[in-house]
Amino acid sequence: MESDFLVVGSGIAGLSFSIKAAGLGTVNLITKKKEVDTATNLAQGGIAAVVSGSDSFDEHINDTLSSGAGLCDEEVVRMVVENGPERLKELVALGVDFVKNKKGLLSLGREGGHSQRRVAHAYDLTGREIERALVSELEKNKSVNLYEDHMCVDLILDEDSDKSRGDRDCVGAYVLNNQGLIEEFRAKVVVLCTGGAGKVYLYTSNPDIATGDGIAIAYRAGALVDKMEFVQFHPTCLYHHMAKNFLISEAVRGEGALLLNKQNERFMEKYEKEEMELATRDKVARAIDKEMKKTGADCVYLDITHKKREFLEKRFPTIYERCKSLGLDIAKKPIPVVPAAHYLCGGVVTDINGRTTVKNLLALGETACTGLHGGNRLASNSLLEAVVFADKAFCYCQKNWKNLKEKKSIKVRMDKIPQKSKIDEEILINHNWDIIRRVMWNYVGIVRKESRLLLAKQRIAEVQKEIEIIFRTYKVTYNMLELRNISLVASLIIEASLKRKKSVGLHCLLD
Ligand SMILES: Cc1cc2nc3c(=O)[nH]c(=O)nc-3n(C[C@H](O)[C@H](O)[C@H](O)COP(=O)(O)OP(=O)(O)OC[C@H]3O[C@@H](n4cnc5c(N)ncnc54)[C@H](O)[C@@H]3O)c2cc1C
Repeated sequence: MESDFLVVGSGIAGLSFSIKAAGLGTVNLITKKKEVDTATNLAQGGIAAVVSGSDSFDEHINDTLSSGAGLCDEEVVRMVVENGPERLKELVALGVDFVKNKKGLLSLGREGGHSQRRVAHAYDLTGREIERALVSELEKNKSVNLYEDHMCVDLILDEDSDKSRGDRDCVGAYVLNNQGLIEEFRAKVVVLCTGGAGKVYLYTSNPDIATGDGIAIAYRAGALVDKMEFVQFHPTCLYHHMAKNFLISEAVRGEGALLLNKQNERFMEKYEKEEMELATRDKVARAIDKEMKKTGADCVYLDITHKKREFLEKRFPTIYERCKSLGLDIAKKPIPVVPAAHYLCGGVVTDINGRTTVKNLLALGETACTGLHGGNRLASNSLLEAVVFADKAFCYCQKNWKNLKEKKSIKVRMDKIPQKSKIDEEILINHNWDIIRRVMWNYVGIVRKESRLLLAKQRIAEVQKEIEIIFRTYKVTYNMLELRNISLVASLIIEASLKRKKSVGLHCLLD
């Protein structure tokens, strides 16, 4: 397979870039499941941008910087915030149906850490609405070939032995196709848009695809990866034995929901007297974690019963219905919630145009570490980051298209992926999945300690050795590849956490 662009991932980042890149050249877009199996599709709250007259770029910039705990790249923050309104207009022009008020202006929600109402939303189905509009636009485009059930395994790099790892050109990717075969996808530019890595933790709001593939793939190719210690835990995931990864959006707290412990006390005043429930996610998640540990409770409660049923049904249709289907009437009773891994601020380091440190390799969306989020992401800034950087990356390619297009064909070694016998005991994979997710949850979670991090490092290293043997011995499968990637991502999170000796942003050390 050959194309000008190879885009890996069909979330907001991959789709936004592909739609634009199709104007320049041919695009092969691969996605490891179905087109809409993405975190994007689950986003509830919305997308932040300065569109109201009472808001300003400076306020959005300050909110982002203060959430990022001094670790943001200010130039990147300014660029993203200032590009926000234009990108939002573009989404509207593509047909994203954001909710509007009676005057026909965007109805803006408020979320934790934002000093203004600036979150455009489609009630609590914002991500699904964005994904729908982008997919429908993509389908009109003849220059894009979409390959579902195709999983990127590793990058193809040129074989210039004079160059060190990380200095080689990226010329494509090895892909496990839907027939179980490895194919080569060659391209002039490869764009990793594989999303986050929430599945590294036992409890997560992320979909099953979030196994950090892009980060692991780029790291193996020698790309720089940074800020992996900054994992955002969403404070409020639904706690119910039948609910898998269901998020209760921050916007519910934005509409005045209170957090209560099992004694029915509003406990946030003990931890964040000023901001209370609207403190940033890390503060709220830590407060809940502490309260649960102190009281020995399995969960806390989010109370929005002061709002009328009609309001809740309209403003939060998905949450209302999902809770109802589990026998929870949110208009009458508080919702049981727990924190869960939600967003990875770190990732593959990129410049302001989405370029990684590997030539011809870009990274966009949650896979990337652009400098926007620093030590802690401000709510609703990630969808914004994805569309802004997709545009910047496209503009970079457009400007440099002559050079990129004329790229010579480069010699590469042939298929390095071992094709052996089929694994006969899936338990070898599943058992290691379980170990990684539990070790990460218990030892590398919301609040950390050096001794626990060292234990985690040892355990994960043992598991990694076993996985490498499995990878070398058996024919590769999706599950095996994801496990290999998640184990590498786990080790990167642990290493980064051990290196950062002081608590900052999302990285909270007890010692
Ligand atoms: C429940 C939930 C609610 C959220 N709410 C908000 C919100 O309100 N506002 C906000 O700004 N952010 C929100 N976020 C975060 C935001 O949704 C994500 O950061 C963003 O959607 C990521 O987009 P993406 O394009 O980078 O990745 P994704 O949308 O996750 O897409 C990743 C794509 O890569 C594919 N892929 C992965 N690995 C491979 C591989 N090896 N080979 C081929 N394909 C691969 C996947 O199949 C998928 O198509 C939320 C996240 C969650 C989980």
